[in-house]
Formats: sequence, C-alpha cells, structure tokens
Amino acid sequence: MFNKDIAGRLAKLKTPFYYYDMDMLDKTVGLIRKEAERYSYKIHYALKSNANERILSKISSSGLGADCVSGNEILMALKTGFRAKDIVFAGVGKTDEEIITGINNDIFCFNVESIQEMEVIDKLSSERNYTSRIALRINPDIEAYTHKYITTGIEETKFGINIWELDNVIETLHSLHNIELIGLHFHIGSQIRRMNAFKSLCTRVNELQTWFENRNITIDHINVGGGLGINYDDPDEIPDFEEYFGIFNELLELRSGQTVHFEPGRSVTGQTGSLITRVLYIKNGSHTNFAIVDAGMTDLIRPALYQAHHKIENIISQKAREKYTVVGPICESSDSFGKYIELSLTERGDLLAIRSAGAYGEVMTSNYNLRNKAPAVFSVDL
Ligand SMILES: *Cc1c(COP(=O)(O)O)cnc(C)c1O
Repeated sequence: MFNKDIAGRLAKLKTPFYYYDMDMLDKTVGLIRKEAERYSYKIHYALKSNANERILSKISSSGLGADCVSGNEILMALKTGFRAKDIVFAGVGKTDEEIITGINNDIFCFNVESIQEMEVIDKLSSERNYTSRIALRINPDIEAYTHKYITTGIEETKFGINIWELDNVIETLHSLHNIELIGLHFHIGSQIRRMNAFKSLCTRVNELQTWFENRNITIDHINVGGGLGINYDDPDEIPDFEEYFGIFNELLELRSGQTVHFEPGRSVTGQTGSLITRVLYIKNGSHTNFAIVDAGMTDLIRPALYQAHHKIENIISQKAREKYTVVGPICESSDSFGKYIELSLTERGDLLAIRSAGAYGEVMTSNYNLRNKAPAVFSVDL
C-alpha cells in the first residue's frame, strides 16, 4: 500500500495525520454490498467507527444505511446523504432531545434498550402525534470471545433488555399506543473473529422468534448488529463477508416477509485508515530501543484502552530489521503502540504507518495535553 511514491508524498506533510486509502474503502463497500445483495440483507453502517464526513459521504453514496448511537450521529448521517428511512438509532442512554431528533426526522427505527426508554419514546411520540417504530435490543447472553471492554451481549452488561424481562416488556407494550414494535435487535460485541459466536447468536434468535410467535407477536425484521472483526496482522485483508453472511443465511430461521439487517462498523472502515507518524527520537534502553513518535494515545487510543495490536511499518527505511518499542509523547505509561516490534532500522525523521486504524481511531481522538487533532489525508488528493 505504501510504495515509494506514496511514502515520498506523505513525507512532505506535517505529522501526525490519518491517511485514508479510498480505493480500499471502495473495494470493501463494494464487496459488502455484493455479498449482502445475494440475500437482500440491509446494511446500516455504524457511524461510530468512523464519522469522517468524506468517508460517510462515500459510504452513503453506495446506498448503505446508517446505524447511529447519538442525536448528533443522526444529524451527521442526514447531512452526509444517508436517508432517514435507512437510519437506526441504538444506545442505552438516549436523551429526550436525541429521541426528539429521531422523531422529527422520521428515522426507520429506535433500537430500544430498556422498558423505561420505551415509555419515554412513547410519551415523546404521543406529544407529537407520532408513532415511533421500535426494535427491542435483546441481550442474548452470548460470549463473543473478544476483549471484555467490547463484549456487550453477556448477562449483566449495561446493554439491551434481558431475556427474563421480556414478559414485562410485552405487558408494557400493550399499554403504549405511540410505539410500534417492528423488530428484534442484537449486538453481541466487537472485533469478533470466531464465527461460532455468530452461530450461537443465530440459535438464540431462532429461540426468541418462537417465543414471540407463541405470543402472536409479528416481527418484521431481525437486526443482528455488527461486530465482525478484521485481521490486524494483515492490514490489506478485507473481511470475509461471504462467509459471514453465509452463516446467517444458513442458520437463521426466518418467518415469511422478514428482512435481516446488519450494522457493521469496523469491518467497513478498519482497513482503510493508517495513522502516519514521524519518529522524533531513538532512545536506547537497557532491554529495548525506544522509537519515540509524534503521535500518541490522543490520536489513537486503542492500544492504551484495549491493549489492541496494530501492525506498524517504517514506510521510509528499507534497511535491516531491528526491534523497537514504539511510544508516543503523552505523559502516561500506557501511551505505547507496541513493544519489541520489528521494524526496518529506524532513524529520527522516518515515517511509521500504524495500520488498520480506520475504525475507532480518528473518532476517538482527544485533546489531552492540549494536543492538536490529527487531520485526515485522502489517497485521492495526494
Ligand atoms: C458499535 C456498534 C456497532 C458496530 O460494531 P463493529 O464492531 O464496529 O462492527 C453496531 N451496532 C451497535 C449497536 C453498536 O453499538
């Protein structure tokens, strides 16, 4: 991806910055559309993984819908060309103002996470002579085999409605007249690489479908959320959407007329972005050499927050390889991008690419230490 020509152009720019390979984004979105169309699956891209306006415009223009987790994400989705009828809105803590944003814009569906939230959406809808479409976000109690901070579908996480509460949910629904139940929603976690987790999800969805059917409740759509992982060891690899959708096609037992919705985030944007940073200093330690770079956890927090691993490459040097611990300038010991990493012999001024940073990278930046926000650079502008 970083040939000599591109590296040369990037070397002229002020660092650090996010570099987006728009070709990679095109290919990924093209593939996801092709594989989803086989089964008429509906895709809502999860804005929270990357909300850069140009990336969003590109994704919306390919016809995907949007998955939002805040009122501002709804407004941004609309601004960048997503259609209201393709927007779903999830989140455990929707404020009244955010719910009203959803109502005023007539979005497709609220993914509701508690009984009290159902009551509030009903009240706010009734005050506006409106009927909100909702899906119940059900906590399926499934182990996702991923980092504990990004596991969302086991019992006693804050997400979703527990299965033992469904009787109460149905009773409450009968008393509310300004919400219409149209779907069941699930999202079990993120960076899921073991396909067994999705297989278990299908089994649980089938059980719940029977439960609702036995109570004569019709469900129009099943939304199985996002969570498909990417290969952080091979940043040029596009996730296997064929296998992923194939699992749901094989295992979900749909009722007639039901549609299936997905909310991929990381698998769409993850491999399109790299954080480009310049080496400020090489410092020899007693066990390792430190490569001190000008990007830090304020630009990419995933290693510090989730012990995440990103592949790092020196895109300037071709010299023999050495081991380095790559650290940022922030005054926190966790401000490290990787220990004992093999790089080409690295010198002050070299550029490092921290790969697979397109998702949960730029969106999570902070200005701790009063740092500037790293800008975005697009391959098509070079
Ligand atoms: C974060 C999130 C997603 C996207 O998850 P990825 O792992 O990035 O695919 C989808 N749906 C909901 C409700 C989420 O919170």
